[in-house]
Amino acid sequence: MIPECPTCGLPLLYAPDVAPHERHERRKDHCPKCGPLPTSERLARDLEAVDCGILAAAARLGEFDDFKSESATPIGDLVRRLEVVAGVHPRGAELLKIAEAARAGRYDATEAEAQAWARSREGREALASLAPGPGRE
Ligand SMILES: [Zn+2]
Repeated sequence: MIPECPTCGLPLLYAPDVAPHERHERRKDHCPKCGPLPTSERLARDLEAVDCGILAAAARLGEFDDFKSESATPIGDLVRRLEVVAGVHPRGAELLKIAEAARAGRYDATEAEAQAWARSREGREALASLAPGPGRE
Protein backbone atom coordinates (compact mmCIF):
# COMPACT_ATOMS: atom_id res chain seq x y z
CA MET A 1 0.00 0.00 0.00
CA ILE A 2 1.35 3.40 -0.97
CA PRO A 3 1.12 5.77 2.01
CA GLU A 4 -1.06 8.79 1.28
CA CYS A 5 -1.35 12.21 2.86
CA PRO A 6 -4.35 12.21 5.27
CA THR A 7 -5.12 15.81 4.25
CA CYS A 8 -4.88 15.86 0.45
CA GLY A 9 -4.41 12.20 -0.57
CA LEU A 10 -1.17 12.67 -2.52
CA PRO A 11 1.37 9.84 -2.20
CA LEU A 12 3.87 10.56 0.56
CA LEU A 13 7.60 10.89 -0.13
CA TYR A 14 10.72 10.78 2.00
CA ALA A 15 11.44 14.06 3.76
CA PRO A 16 14.14 16.00 1.87
CA ASP A 17 16.60 15.61 4.76
CA VAL A 18 16.47 11.80 4.87
CA ALA A 19 19.79 10.45 3.59
CA PRO A 20 19.60 7.49 1.16
CA HIS A 21 21.15 5.11 3.71
CA GLU A 22 18.39 5.99 6.22
CA ARG A 23 15.54 5.27 3.84
CA HIS A 24 15.08 1.70 4.94
CA GLU A 25 14.39 2.84 8.50
CA ARG A 26 12.32 5.95 8.15
CA ARG A 27 9.12 5.56 6.25
CA LYS A 28 7.75 8.07 3.81
CA ASP A 29 6.13 10.83 5.86
CA HIS A 30 6.37 13.96 3.74
CA CYS A 31 3.58 15.29 1.51
CA PRO A 32 4.78 17.20 -1.59
CA LYS A 33 1.92 19.69 -1.08
CA CYS A 34 1.31 19.88 2.71
CA GLY A 35 4.84 19.20 3.97
CA PRO A 36 5.69 16.83 6.81
CA LEU A 37 2.92 14.82 8.47
CA PRO A 38 1.98 16.02 11.96
CA THR A 39 4.22 14.39 14.56
CA SER A 40 1.25 12.62 16.19
CA GLU A 41 0.27 11.09 12.83
CA ARG A 42 3.85 9.99 12.14
CA LEU A 43 3.98 8.25 15.51
CA ALA A 44 0.56 6.63 14.93
CA ARG A 45 1.76 5.21 11.60
CA ASP A 46 4.98 3.88 13.13
CA LEU A 47 2.88 2.14 15.83
CA GLU A 48 0.44 0.72 13.27
CA ALA A 49 3.38 -0.65 11.29
CA VAL A 50 4.20 -2.91 14.27
CA ASP A 51 0.52 -3.84 14.95
CA CYS A 52 0.10 -1.69 18.05
CA GLY A 53 -3.35 -0.30 17.27
CA ILE A 54 -4.15 0.74 20.84
CA LEU A 55 -1.18 3.05 21.25
CA ALA A 56 -1.60 4.22 17.63
CA ALA A 57 -5.14 5.36 18.45
CA ALA A 58 -3.89 7.16 21.57
CA ALA A 59 -1.12 8.81 19.51
CA ARG A 60 -3.62 9.99 16.90
CA LEU A 61 -5.68 11.63 19.65
CA GLY A 62 -2.58 13.58 20.65
CA GLU A 63 -1.88 11.77 23.91
CA PHE A 64 1.88 11.71 23.27
CA ASP A 65 2.12 15.08 21.53
CA ASP A 66 4.13 17.91 23.11
CA PHE A 67 1.33 20.42 22.48
CA LYS A 68 -1.88 18.37 22.25
CA SER A 69 -1.38 16.19 25.34
CA GLU A 70 -2.75 17.08 28.77
CA SER A 71 0.40 15.55 30.23
CA ALA A 72 3.50 17.60 31.03
CA THR A 73 5.70 14.66 29.95
CA PRO A 74 4.04 13.09 26.88
CA ILE A 75 7.20 11.48 25.47
CA GLY A 76 8.05 9.97 28.87
CA ASP A 77 4.48 8.61 29.03
CA LEU A 78 4.90 7.09 25.57
CA VAL A 79 8.19 5.40 26.49
CA ARG A 80 6.69 3.91 29.68
CA ARG A 81 3.57 2.67 27.87
CA LEU A 82 5.69 1.11 25.11
CA GLU A 83 7.89 -0.66 27.65
CA VAL A 84 4.82 -2.11 29.41
CA VAL A 85 3.08 -3.19 26.19
CA ALA A 86 6.35 -4.60 24.77
CA GLY A 87 6.38 -7.18 27.55
CA VAL A 88 3.18 -8.82 26.29
CA HIS A 89 3.17 -7.88 22.59
CA PRO A 90 4.30 -10.31 19.83
CA ARG A 91 6.36 -7.52 18.26
CA GLY A 92 7.72 -6.27 21.59
CA ALA A 93 11.29 -5.87 20.31
CA GLU A 94 10.07 -3.48 17.62
CA LEU A 95 8.05 -1.53 20.19
CA LEU A 96 11.22 -1.10 22.25
CA LYS A 97 12.93 0.32 19.15
CA ILE A 98 10.15 2.91 18.88
CA ALA A 99 10.68 3.71 22.58
CA GLU A 100 14.38 4.21 21.87
CA ALA A 101 13.60 6.50 18.92
CA ALA A 102 11.16 8.44 21.13
CA ARG A 103 13.90 8.98 23.72
CA ALA A 104 16.19 10.18 20.92
CA GLY A 105 13.67 12.86 19.93
CA ARG A 106 12.00 11.34 16.87
CA TYR A 107 8.52 12.28 18.13
CA ASP A 108 9.31 15.69 19.64
CA ALA A 109 7.14 18.44 18.17
CA THR A 110 8.66 20.17 15.16
CA GLU A 111 9.60 23.85 14.99
CA ALA A 112 6.57 24.45 12.71
CA GLU A 113 4.27 22.81 15.30
CA ALA A 114 5.75 24.96 18.07
CA GLN A 115 5.13 28.09 16.00
CA ALA A 116 1.56 27.05 15.18
CA TRP A 117 0.91 26.47 18.88
CA ALA A 118 2.40 29.87 19.79
CA ARG A 119 -0.04 31.48 17.32
CA SER A 120 -3.06 29.56 18.66
CA ARG A 121 -5.35 31.03 21.31
CA GLU A 122 -4.21 28.46 23.86
CA GLY A 123 -0.57 29.17 23.09
CA ARG A 124 -0.97 32.94 23.24
CA GLU A 125 -2.70 32.69 26.62
CA ALA A 126 -0.05 30.34 27.99
CA LEU A 127 2.79 32.57 26.78
CA ALA A 128 1.10 35.71 28.12
CA SER A 129 0.79 34.12 31.56
CA LEU A 130 4.55 33.48 31.58
CA ALA A 131 5.64 36.90 30.38
CA PRO A 132 6.12 39.69 32.92
CA GLY A 133 3.52 42.38 32.39
CA PRO A 134 1.88 45.33 34.13
CA GLY A 135 0.84 44.40 37.65
CA ARG A 136 2.93 41.24 37.71
CA GLU A 137 6.20 40.51 39.46
ZN1 LIG B 1 -0.99 16.59 1.54
